[in-house]
Amino acid sequence: MTMVPELFGSMVFNDKVMQERLPKSTYKALRKTMENGEPLDITVANVVANAMKDWAVELGCTHFTHWFQPMTGVTAEKHDSFITPTGDGVIMEFSGKELIKGEPDASSFPSGGIRATFEARGYTTWDPTSPAFVRDTTLYIPTAFCSYTGEVLDKKTPLLRSMERLSAEAVKILHLLGKTDVTRVATTVGPEQEYFLIDKDLYDQREDLKLTGRTLFGARAPKGQELEDHYFGSIKTRVAAYMKELDEELWKLGVLAKTKHNEVAPSQHELAPIFSTSNIATDHNELTMEIMQKVAERHHLVCLLHEKPFKGVNGSGKHNNWSISTNTGENLLSPGKNPEENTQFLLFLAAIVKAVDEYQDLLRITVASAGNDHRLGANEAPPAIISMYLGDDLGALVESIIEGKDYKSHKAAKMETGVDVLPDFRKDSSDRNRTSPFAFTGNKFEFRALGSSLNIGCPNYMLNTMVAEELHGFYDALKDAENLDEAMKALVKETLTAHQRIIFNGDNYSDEWVKEAERRGLLNLKSLPEAFSHFLDQKNVDLFVKNNIITAQEMAARCEIELETYSKQINIEALTMQDMARKEIIPAVSAFTTALADSINSKRAVSAAIPTKAEEELLLSLSTKLETFCRLTAELHDEVSRAASLTDVEEEAHCYNEYVIPKMNELREVGDMMEMETASEYWPYPSYSELLFSV
Ligand code: ADP
Ligand code: MG
Repeated sequence: MTMVPELFGSMVFNDKVMQERLPKSTYKALRKTMENGEPLDITVANVVANAMKDWAVELGCTHFTHWFQPMTGVTAEKHDSFITPTGDGVIMEFSGKELIKGEPDASSFPSGGIRATFEARGYTTWDPTSPAFVRDTTLYIPTAFCSYTGEVLDKKTPLLRSMERLSAEAVKILHLLGKTDVTRVATTVGPEQEYFLIDKDLYDQREDLKLTGRTLFGARAPKGQELEDHYFGSIKTRVAAYMKELDEELWKLGVLAKTKHNEVAPSQHELAPIFSTSNIATDHNELTMEIMQKVAERHHLVCLLHEKPFKGVNGSGKHNNWSISTNTGENLLSPGKNPEENTQFLLFLAAIVKAVDEYQDLLRITVASAGNDHRLGANEAPPAIISMYLGDDLGALVESIIEGKDYKSHKAAKMETGVDVLPDFRKDSSDRNRTSPFAFTGNKFEFRALGSSLNIGCPNYMLNTMVAEELHGFYDALKDAENLDEAMKALVKETLTAHQRIIFNGDNYSDEWVKEAERRGLLNLKSLPEAFSHFLDQKNVDLFVKNNIITAQEMAARCEIELETYSKQINIEALTMQDMARKEIIPAVSAFTTALADSINSKRAVSAAIPTKAEEELLLSLSTKLETFCRLTAELHDEVSRAASLTDVEEEAHCYNEYVIPKMNELREVGDMMEMETASEYWPYPSYSELLFSV
């Protein structure tokens, strides 16, 4: 058995491998590029490429691929073999040029109308800050993706740019504070990933799961999550075997898989890694989601990453734990023992408070998706209203700053367990508020509104950019100050006072909060189309253009892609529902009601004295529902046709949201009632009980 330290990173072209296999000068040049973003010389790239190829071939590789993250939301790869002909044979070759640049045909990736088909060329460029790795006999090279004319077509490029921006602005502030040894600042992310595991045979019997990733029909099981017996419950053997293999696969790829446990809903689980830089965390989260699905296949399971696979139990999200730290090893969001005296911390905190308030629309937009719309505001996930939770201590400190009063620190209290054999320990200074979308958790913020299938590149580039922008403003306000300390304190007070409306420490699920948030003027954008109507607001365009993250044209393209994807997904769901209704559910209920009628007739033929009332009542009830169900199926058809006929992407998305989805909900309700009255041998699909309780 291989020990974990040997297993870990064994498929990664990491620092250790580079040191072993690269000449010293090449290694140094590459590190410079990785650390400071300096351009890489082609002669250096040639040496790196050759070493990478040799290493990969020793691990059994025959191919390499530029791995990228187009706007589809899933990763893309095109495999090329290393073979180069020599006379009548071949040798394995890989050049610096092939490492640095790839040319996949870009015409079939969404571009939101940026790229005409005659300019189908797209380029992928090596991202040396995220290490290459080996999977399935292929060398994977993380890359960024852009069009022939240079437009950004992926999710990685804006993220890398935003990290640079935040670093530059934070370093300026730190230099102002005298910390001239800091040369770079990195954002760090630890994404907690939720998922469902269900049996493959059952999955195969459900057209809705196969085509849309979620159940479109399905009556509630007699048991759901009400006993709260699944959360942190002991892990069943089959799931444990899956999780073990998943950990090992991830460790081989250098993913720091750390925590695993059962989640709230039956069949729901979570995996959390140890945090890394935003860029690597994003690549690793994409890898994690792919490997989760691959490993499931080997266990005859299916891993569902949809945000709401089952009605009536919790859906799946992703918590984006986010912080900023310096190359000297300081976490800038760590309040220290005396936050009231830590002006540097308060400055960064104030910048984040201001950013979240001013760009609350962007934070809502970045987590919007057809799937996640089912969760936000459904009392299982943070609401669609963005607010921040600071915890008791920090909350009280911020209040005292705003009011100009003295702050009395609660100091970390000792938790006395009252049992001699148990050690006493220090309590965390902030309790958990599980309902807040953006919570301070000790030395980081936890952005909790993300859907489980989301590429975390988007929320992170937006977050980084908005904070960079505020830091830039802070630097301008402070750079010429005569008394820096006083100027900083005044700026912190002024900023917190102006943006205190975004801070909310109470229950985000309550109806009072919805009213209170409205009174405070906070946005409540309930659906993707509503959220995206703010994306191209001037302040947002200014933010991204000024910071050189994406252009106005690229933003318009992204907006179009999101709206289009939303409409397409709901269109597929609505068509799948009709297909299930017409081909399976209506015939099944018809057959069962016929059987009931036959039974009634047979009994009557024997003797009028035999009671048939129960069957008659059931027959009447089901037949009436079947009529309604057929009518609603036809109405859904009409609503979909109307939405699909619209040519304006925004109007179309609104039409799906406002007319198609409500009709789908109506149809489902009647369908689920029929399921409860139909004998299971007639019902065409595995029930929720089977789906949720058989693994
Ligand atoms: P919980 O949310 O259950 O309290 P933890 O406190 O264990 O979970 O942490 C959740 C995630 O936060 C982990 O992925 C962890 O690595 C990550 N995390 C911890 N510190 C930081 C940091 N400085 N920057 C980013 N993520 C962090
Ligand atoms: Mg968490």
